[in-house]
Amino acid sequence: NISSERRRDIISQRGERLFKTLSVSYEQPLIIERGQGQFLLDENNIAYLDMVNNVCHVGHCHPSVVAAGQAQMAKLNTNTRYLNDNILDYSRALLDTFPESLSVVMFVNSGSEANELAMRLMRCKTQSDELLVVDGAYHGNTNKAIEISPYKFNGPGGEGAAEHIHIVPVPDPYRGPYKGMSVETGLAYAEPVQQAIRQLQQEGKQLGGYICESLQGVGGNLVMPNGYLDAVYQAVRAAGGVCIADEVQVGFGRVGTHWWGFETQGVVPDIVTLGKPIGNGHPMAAVVTTKEIAAAFVTGMEYFNTFGGNPVSCAIGKAVLDTIDTENLMHNARDSGDYMRMRLVKLQETFDIIGDVRGLGLFIGVELVKDASLTPATQEAQALIEWFKSRNILLSLDGPFNNVLKIKPPMVFNKDNVDYFIEQLLQGLSRINA
Ligand code: PMP
Repeated sequence: NISSERRRDIISQRGERLFKTLSVSYEQPLIIERGQGQFLLDENNIAYLDMVNNVCHVGHCHPSVVAAGQAQMAKLNTNTRYLNDNILDYSRALLDTFPESLSVVMFVNSGSEANELAMRLMRCKTQSDELLVVDGAYHGNTNKAIEISPYKFNGPGGEGAAEHIHIVPVPDPYRGPYKGMSVETGLAYAEPVQQAIRQLQQEGKQLGGYICESLQGVGGNLVMPNGYLDAVYQAVRAAGGVCIADEVQVGFGRVGTHWWGFETQGVVPDIVTLGKPIGNGHPMAAVVTTKEIAAAFVTGMEYFNTFGGNPVSCAIGKAVLDTIDTENLMHNARDSGDYMRMRLVKLQETFDIIGDVRGLGLFIGVELVKDASLTPATQEAQALIEWFKSRNILLSLDGPFNNVLKIKPPMVFNKDNVDYFIEQLLQGLSRINA
């Protein structure tokens, strides 16, 4: 038929003209032509419930965000060397969502670039590149970002850890050596971080800092046990290092109870990196930090960023923040997310393959296992993803064994959407069990 012919043609043209390192989802990739709210529509106008896209945070093509971008594009777009109100209005609104000490922002264009800049800030503040990173973490696609991402440097095509990069264990309360969410577990996972710091000190090296997502994304949508970050941050600061929170995936109210994931651990980082949802799909990102660290960055070298903080991006970013507020999307994330986890936990009583249900707000992981020794049910998870597609639901997998259903839909995801998803999950799991 026409669709499969067109698909073959597109795939073949991509193969000719684009880098082969780009991948696509599904055995039969979808042709997607439009987005609306929590739905993506294919070339035949068939709607798919989108449970993958955390980037189109307030819903695909949200009219307020589109209007803000269109109006500003028709008026002015230029770099930050002229005075313009947009960057001021937006930075004020954005910084208002942060604890008081995080009061200065630099705008960039991608999550990777934000983490690059965070590394430069760390070096300026501490004169050190010695960095602690969490095993399996991903922080971006640039040279420096790959250097600080075990998921990449220890993954296919990777070249291993650089000498100044020190991996600490992922605090995984399900699969790791210490179980559960208690402070005791949190402290047990903080211990190897303290140990790594002691080791550096014994070698006479100054610690630069510690970077960690506030909830682990590619690690499989993990929530860290209580008390973990607090203990880690104390140890890092006692050694003169800076604490960096990567909120590129989990920020902007997704956790339902707070704007930022780190708040759920009761800590305040020194540097926070933002991206993905910040522009609802418009490419922008930011680094938020303290006045003291921003001052340490003033070395005489100018920082110029052609696109960062331009009037169009700022108008769009402001519209995203306004929409989160006016549509009460943080609370929706909590309500829809709590409801989804409640229904998933109920399903767990019937299906042993559901090993773990975890998450906060609309950042949820469902880990599928074959048995009590937690053998990953990777093939079953892959089969489920294809099943969901046949039922018009888009969902992806993550975690080191690719056996975690990774749920992070646009924040407008509602309880009817949850009901439809659970219904299809039940049918999908019944087919696997049959
Ligand atoms: N940090 C995290 C936690 C991410 O998930 C990503 C993107 N997947 C990045 C950084 C890099 O962001 P970008 O792709 O916008 O460069």
